[in-house]
Amino acid sequence: MSIPNVTLNDGHRIPQLGFGVWQVSRRDIVRTVSAALEVGYRHIDTASAYGNEAGVGQAIRESDIPREDLFITTKLDNSDQGRARQALEDSLRRLGLDYLDLYLIHWPVPGLDKRVEAWEAMEQAQAEGLIRSIGVSNFTPRYLTEIIEHGSVVPAVNQIEYHPTFQQRDVETANAEHGIVTEAYSPLGMGSAPRNRVVADIAERTGRTSAQVVLRWHVQAGPVVIPKSVTPPRIAENFAVSDFQLSSADLAAIDALDTGKPLGWDPETVRG
Ligand code: NDP
Repeated sequence: MSIPNVTLNDGHRIPQLGFGVWQVSRRDIVRTVSAALEVGYRHIDTASAYGNEAGVGQAIRESDIPREDLFITTKLDNSDQGRARQALEDSLRRLGLDYLDLYLIHWPVPGLDKRVEAWEAMEQAQAEGLIRSIGVSNFTPRYLTEIIEHGSVVPAVNQIEYHPTFQQRDVETANAEHGIVTEAYSPLGMGSAPRNRVVADIAERTGRTSAQVVLRWHVQAGPVVIPKSVTPPRIAENFAVSDFQLSSADLAAIDALDTGKPLGWDPETVRG
């Protein structure tokens, strides 16, 4: 199964299909990431806030996959924006890595207003080789503009909620205008998208599962996508989306499901 890479604005390459581990418990994390690596995923998305970086690191070590073949992302916790360098070093230690492929500011946290300070610390760590690529998450266009105006590095990635009923095309357009790759989180709508009737009809007609149809829609639309599952058959199913195409009519039918309503949180209200 061949997963394409997407080239970032700093020249590094990110596998378009990755594996998310939010809400994977400490008990399940090692076996879950091991199952994903076994199936072929090489891009893992964690965060300091998920409390499972150590388990991700253990699964990586136990896999014997060469470090350069992996793409590992973690995120700066909201409460750590004023101590980004220390938080980065703590994440690297928990993961057992000497560099990250991608480090993201998890949320903009208006009111705290430490985004630019955190970004400058991340630029410095990137220059020192502790991080390959730096980016943001949950940044609306005004926060992107702020970082670009004050920083010297344009974010490589903006990771945002993105699934059939919440497509955030305005943010995707702003990302593209700045050369920032959009990364789709909660790509299965936290498990709701495969239950959608339109998706289920396409799945029945194409002989694929509903989750595969949703993930194929993401892959053909272009963003990077990071589904999560703790269920081994689903982990494999979600990776098997490279050998079929959706028609432009099917893509358009899923595009039309956008309601503009998030399932997750508003970046203007998420605090520490
Ligand atoms: P997803 O959209 O990936 O959906 C996960 C849910 O879908 C789980 O309940 C899972 O169940 C279920 N599921 C997975 N595969 C299938 C399938 N083939 N058929 C039916 N159901 C399925 O949700 P997440 O919110 O976890 O998002 C994915 C990742 O995005 C996160 O893990 C995290 O890495 C990232 N993220 C980032 C955020 C940010 O602020 N930057 C916020 C939220 C997520 P089960 O596990 O039981 O199999």
